[in-house]
Amino acid sequence: MNNFTKNEIKKIVSDLMKEMRNEIPVGVSNRHIHLSQEDFELLFPGETLEPLKMLKQPGEFAAKQTLTLIGKKGKQEKVRILGPLRKRTQVEISKTDARVLGIDAPIRLSGNLVDAGIVTLKSVNNEVSLRAAIVAKRHIHMNPNDLERFNLKEDDVLTVKLKTPERETIYKDVSIRLGEKFILEMHIDTDEANAANVTNSTKALLMRDEKME
Ligand SMILES: [Zn+2]
Repeated sequence: MNNFTKNEIKKIVSDLMKEMRNEIPVGVSNRHIHLSQEDFELLFPGETLEPLKMLKQPGEFAAKQTLTLIGKKGKQEKVRILGPLRKRTQVEISKTDARVLGIDAPIRLSGNLVDAGIVTLKSVNNEVSLRAAIVAKRHIHMNPNDLERFNLKEDDVLTVKLKTPERETIYKDVSIRLGEKFILEMHIDTDEANAANVTNSTKALLMRDEKME
C-alpha cells in the first residue's frame, strides 16, 4: 500500500478537480455543406430539408439529403448537408479533402467566406458552382455561462491539449464561438482528429500555463 500523507492526497484531489473543471468534450466534424434557401431550391426542387440525426448543438441536424462536391482534381460523393438552412451556402472540408478535390480552401471561422475556394455542388437535378469552400478554423462552442466559468473573453485565442492515447496533442489558435444556446464542445476536423488519435471519449483540456507560449 502507498502511504500518502493527508496533504498529498489533498493535492492529488485538488489537481484532478482543477483538470476536470477545464475539460471540454470534443466533436469531430466530417466534411459537410450548409445551404442557402436559394441554393437548396435549385438543387432539390420541391423538397424540404429532412432531418436524419440531431446534432449536439440545439436545433442543428444532419439532413437526409447529400450532394456531390466537385473540384478541379476530383469529386466526393454523398457529402452530408447540415440543417437548418443558412443565409449563405458554405462548404466545410479538411485540408486533405481540399487536396484531393483540387480546391484552394483557406482556414476560416464559419461564416467568413473571404477568399473561399470555388466548389461545384451537384445533385441529381442540378448543379451550382460558387466560392464557398473553407477549412473550418478549430473552435470551441460556449454559452455565456461557460465563458464566465472559464474566465474567458469572446475574442480570446486558446491553447488546448487533446488527451488521447499515444498521440497526446496540443493545439493552439483555438477560437471561441459564443452563442446563448450553445453546448460546450470543441470542434475539430477529421485531419486534426486523426493527427491526434481522437476517440469518442477524448476530452480537450484548456491550458492555463503561460509557460506554454
Ligand atoms: Zn462548430
